[in-house]
Amino acid sequence: MYHFNHIADLKKYVQEQNLKGKSIGLVPTMGALHDGHASLVRASLKENDVTITSIFINPVQFNNKEDFQSYPKTETADFNFLKSLGNTAVFSPLETEMYPDSPKMALDFGSLQVGMEGKFREGHFNGVGIVVGKLLNIVKPDRAYFGQKDLQQFAIISQLVRDLSFDVELKCVPILRSEDGLALSSRNQRLTAEQLKDALIFYKSLAMAKSMLKDDTPLALVTERVSAAFSASNVNLEYFEIVDPTTLEQIDQYNAETNIALCIAGYVGNVRLIDNIIIGNEY
Ligand code: AMP
Repeated sequence: MYHFNHIADLKKYVQEQNLKGKSIGLVPTMGALHDGHASLVRASLKENDVTITSIFINPVQFNNKEDFQSYPKTETADFNFLKSLGNTAVFSPLETEMYPDSPKMALDFGSLQVGMEGKFREGHFNGVGIVVGKLLNIVKPDRAYFGQKDLQQFAIISQLVRDLSFDVELKCVPILRSEDGLALSSRNQRLTAEQLKDALIFYKSLAMAKSMLKDDTPLALVTERVSAAFSASNVNLEYFEIVDPTTLEQIDQYNAETNIALCIAGYVGNVRLIDNIIIGNEY
């Protein structure tokens, strides 16, 4: 498995692959890899000659210092995991390599960032946009893979790619869940056995909301029931929003003809988790 820490070395490898006419897939991650990440890597391995997985805990996208410092770091296990998936190259730069000095630009994604993660994690999408823009510039992949788990992130990266004319095809990979429905997340590693059970409320309430909407329950009542379910649990609800999956505009009336996304975030102890489901055509 090829492993690069430096941008110049990675670029050289990319140039060699380009000269050989190989297509390149990029899978950006922050490490602490799990089977959810594996589904992105597998999709890339299937659709490209070469897959490059980046592992970089991007400081610029964290609005909460404690969250950044406690983000799980499992580099050796990550490398072994990637090796087990097939022939991928890994890019794991140091912070100083990616940011020799602090970025001065600020990205604003307008209406796409006013709700949900954008509302509760100030500056988050500025950081996401900068790091993804950098990675797309460094690797210039044919395809880049992201998870539906970060639905708002996907909408924002799609906008970034359109606004700056990046020549890349974006792929959105469905959420991988544990058997009991919990969306796989690197942050799940920080939960106790008890908290892992508590965290099932995310998927359970999304499933409840989905079936209520399909029964034509008014949206306000659905939201109220989700809030009530969280109030009766050990998990603090941060938001539950019903939005258009692409524009992220709030939806005030359910219509079986159009896709809608139910998005949720909350805290299990001091661990923040997010989840969503799309009703209609899934990605
Ligand atoms: P992260 O390392 O958390 O930044 O995630 C890297 C990529 O993996 C992002 O595009 C995520 O949306 C995606 N991802 C994370 N968890 C899952 C999951 N359970 N299923 C599918 N994709 C995921």
